[in-house]
Amino acid sequence: MKKLALHWKILIGMVLGIIFGFIMNSIDGGKGFVADWIKPFGTIFINLLKLIAVPLILASLIKGISDLKDISKIKSMGLRTIGLYMITTLVAVVIGLSIVNTVKPGNGMPQETIEKIKLKYGNNSSVIDKLNEASSQKQAGPLQALVDIFPSNIFKSLTDASMLQVIFFALFVGICLLLIDEEKAKPLINFFDSLNEVVMKMVDLIMLFAPYAVFSLLANVIISFDDTEILLKLLWYAFCVFGGLVLLIGFYLLLIKIYAKKSPIWFLKQISPAQLLAFSTSSSAATLPVTMERVEEHLGVDPEVAGFVLPVGATVNMDGTSLYQGIAAVFIMQVLWPEGLTFTNQLVIIGTSVLASIGSAAVPSAGIVMLVVVLETLGFPAELLPLGIALIFAVDRPLDMCRTVVNVTGDATVSVLVAKSLGKLHEPKPKEWDDNYKKV
Ligand code: ASP
Repeated sequence: MKKLALHWKILIGMVLGIIFGFIMNSIDGGKGFVADWIKPFGTIFINLLKLIAVPLILASLIKGISDLKDISKIKSMGLRTIGLYMITTLVAVVIGLSIVNTVKPGNGMPQETIEKIKLKYGNNSSVIDKLNEASSQKQAGPLQALVDIFPSNIFKSLTDASMLQVIFFALFVGICLLLIDEEKAKPLINFFDSLNEVVMKMVDLIMLFAPYAVFSLLANVIISFDDTEILLKLLWYAFCVFGGLVLLIGFYLLLIKIYAKKSPIWFLKQISPAQLLAFSTSSSAATLPVTMERVEEHLGVDPEVAGFVLPVGATVNMDGTSLYQGIAAVFIMQVLWPEGLTFTNQLVIIGTSVLASIGSAAVPSAGIVMLVVVLETLGFPAELLPLGIALIFAVDRPLDMCRTVVNVTGDATVSVLVAKSLGKLHEPKPKEWDDNYKKV
């Protein structure tokens, strides 16, 4: 077992977790056992990843920026990153809309199924929570998202893990370190450099626990499924999202091959532990420390590029989420409001899905909240909104798991492309998890 590569160990943990979940689902008291005795280990793992995410962003970004030694380089890296994020997100929405308009998974859904879904999920507390969250997001002014980037109290931002505020602060500190006297800057740079190393080592240690944690996370996902009948009725819709996500990964691999001149198989192999964790946790924020470790140490992206591109990407670049929002919005309209499916509305979906992916938090099922905002912008009838969300709710968790994989892969791809364009893509250090294990 020790000789196996990490991604195989995680994969085995996932498969065993799924099998265990199904067994527990079918025996009396099994669900309770998983909730009481298995789930907590997954929660501990996610807590540990979240614990290091904020110090990691702070340390790697401050260190990365101060290593650039030149403010104009920050500008060119920033512009390339934002440009590539916009392009990949647009491609994602366009792929999503093309598929859903061709396959039309919502056409002809039997009234009986709609009624069943209404009965089962129409008053579901999670659906109602999502609607409430969306309405509080909408009440904020149009520039609130911009205002929210600038913290008034950095300690509060750190405590709340407000990623964009932490990123802003780290950039600000990094730039100022470049502007002051080198001698004066040195102690602080050394401090963050050392903190960065410590946190990266923490990722190595936490990952030793990953195969067991994914067992727990997946077993818990399986015991939460309770309605296979409705799930089957939504299969076409789910296939559209899944197919679109696979196409999008194909697009990333093409970019890796053509622009970065790297083998797509190699890329997938190196990034796979982060993808598997994204799948198991449904959270790109929780996966961020692992994504950074894989991108820096296994894909060879210079830390000063990865330290900037990945935290920003985890927060604002969610290609999988945008693709999903495009498909889900049109699917819901095909079922409940076909007259709203005009060409103009499809254009509005492109715009709002791109913005919604920026606004979505990198946590499980955040995409649904922003989907409500997308639908409201289109003028979707308010009285049908709860039913609209209920319609896709039953399959949301597995789709969330898949779109989170794509969100993480998109960020990793862009970091490789930006690094390549700046001449900062190197041969990765040949460092294996098992070596780390020995060092421990
Ligand atoms: N769970 C996704 C993520 O963390 C966001 C979403 O689409 O719900 O990337």
